[in-house]
Amino acid sequence: MSNNIIIRTKDFLKTRTGHLALTYFAIIMAMTIVFSVVIFAIASNQFDRPLQPRTTFRSVLGGDDTYVRDLLDQRADEARMGLLVGLLILNTGMALFGVWFSVYLARRTMEPIEQAMEEQGRFVSDASHELRTPLTALQAMNEVALRRKKITDAEARELAQANVTEATKLHALTTSLLGLVTSDRAPVTLKPVDIQAAVADAMSYVVGAAQAKHIEVEDKLPAIRITTDSEKLVHVVRILLDNAVKYSNKNGKVVIAAKELPHMVRLSVTDNGVGIQAADIPHIFSRFYRADASRSKEQHEGYGLGLAIAKTISDRMGWKISATSKFGSGSTFSIDMPVGRN
Ligand code: ADP
Repeated sequence: MSNNIIIRTKDFLKTRTGHLALTYFAIIMAMTIVFSVVIFAIASNQFDRPLQPRTTFRSVLGGDDTYVRDLLDQRADEARMGLLVGLLILNTGMALFGVWFSVYLARRTMEPIEQAMEEQGRFVSDASHELRTPLTALQAMNEVALRRKKITDAEARELAQANVTEATKLHALTTSLLGLVTSDRAPVTLKPVDIQAAVADAMSYVVGAAQAKHIEVEDKLPAIRITTDSEKLVHVVRILLDNAVKYSNKNGKVVIAAKELPHMVRLSVTDNGVGIQAADIPHIFSRFYRADASRSKEQHEGYGLGLAIAKTISDRMGWKISATSKFGSGSTFSIDMPVGRN
């Protein structure tokens, strides 16, 4: 039993939390000991204070004061001893309390750090997993081609085309990963922004894809100006428009609208596409989450990073991004931008 406790304590002290707890404990004990020494020195000094004035003392006792002096010295020694014992008890108590308190403090300090490290580890592992898929495809295709004795021009072209396709996917993925990592750090530049102009800018990126699917993109935007970071607004709207087009069927319709509410402007992107199941909605803003993987992976390119980037930017700007959807009929994504705060 006690062996078990010793082993567990040793293991704990080897962890990061254990190191920190040990540091906290050393600080607590160093402070307690220093205070005890100072208190003892000051009190000791006071006990040894000479009895003054000697003459008054003698006159009261009538000459010989040796007995009284011995008695007082004895009392001072006893008091010093009592103080020493008291301080020793206090230090032992502080040591016991210090063990509990330093472990508690170390755990509280390390909790958010360890959570962040765990999240980072998960991110790296998810990212590596996603990167491996196109890389494995590239490797396999090229290895198969290399094993063949002869390769025709048409086959070489086909291989080159497949390589370009996979490289394009890798490029898109690395760009998204970089976007995700930098989006919560990029500096914020506030200036008056015309919502119509920002949306037009975002639309220019998706117009080609919309035309290819014969999707009508309608904007119902009143003339609103808000003070915000134009680049970040364009980025978020672009992600929402990109998804609206991607998850819409041919000949679909996407509507982008804005309205002024008390203390905020609400911008919304509505499509009449595939929609999102209610159970998926709470997760779609998480990194690498793709609703209904089989359906999405087969029919729509993507890595589940767009909405995570949109959310990170929105959090940084103090906007609230949300989604409502009717599975099979379409979705609406809204960004609520506080006016005067952003
Ligand atoms: P990606 O589109 O690359 O998969 P996102 O982070 O942009 O990644 O979106 C996460 C998931 O949310 C998508 O896989 C999709 O299932 C769902 N989603 C996002 N926007 C829409 C939309 N407008 N209509 C339907 N589903 C959507």
